[in-house]
Formats: sequence, structure tokens, C-alpha cells
Amino acid sequence: MAKRIALIAHDNMKPTMIDWCIKNREALSRHFLSGTGTTAAKITEATGLPVFAYLSGPMGGDQQIGAKVAAGEIDIIIFFSDPLCAMPHDPDVKALLRIAQVYDVPMANNKSTADCILKSLM
Ligand code: PGA
Repeated sequence: MAKRIALIAHDNMKPTMIDWCIKNREALSRHFLSGTGTTAAKITEATGLPVFAYLSGPMGGDQQIGAKVAAGEIDIIIFFSDPLCAMPHDPDVKALLRIAQVYDVPMANNKSTADCILKSLM
């Protein structure tokens, strides 16, 4: 069954996200994809997959995705955050992590976890 998957990657992690999406293009094509603005655009550019774009993360995209989680409209979050660099929107990142816990939405923050989640859908 098609899931609603939100994809987010901080700038230093965008190449990792793009590589992961290219590698998993076939599996991802069976689901409804969305993402923060720049991440969504780059995934579409690299894979040709439609990815609904929220605002860019620093402009509120993470919070928009959090609101969708609270509304029960997102099933899975793949969020490759930058482990080595502080972000101006760190509070938004924490808020998204918290709301995903509250609503028991699976959330991957690295490739291995993302692989596990995607495999579990097959
Ligand atoms: P971006 O946002 O996809 O618009 O770059 C990601 C983020 O920084 O949360």
C-alpha cells in the first residue's frame, strides 16, 4: 500500500539523500513523496519522481511537515540531518523529532535506517 513519505536533508547531507533516492527510485516510485523545498526539488531533478515541495526547511518547511504529521497525513519521515553542523532552525528539527515520537511515525536519520524502513514496506 502506498505510503506518504516526507524527505528532508540538510545541505551537507543532500548528496547522501540524492544517492539514496536514485538507488531506491523504483521502490520510492510506489509511494507519495513530499519534502522540504530544496530537498524536494533536487530529488525530482535527480530522479524524475514527483515530490510535493513544502517551504524550504529554514523558512518553515520542517514545521509544515510536523503539522502534517500531527494531522495524520504523513506515514514515514526520512530526515538526513547534518550531525556535524549547527543549524539556525535547530528548534524546528527538534520539534519534528518530538512530534514524530508523539504520533509514532517512523523516522530515519541515516541511510541504514531508511533502508530498513523501505525494505519493511516491500
Ligand atoms: P531544504 O530544507 O530542503 O529546503 O534545504 C531542509 C532543512 O534544512 O530542513
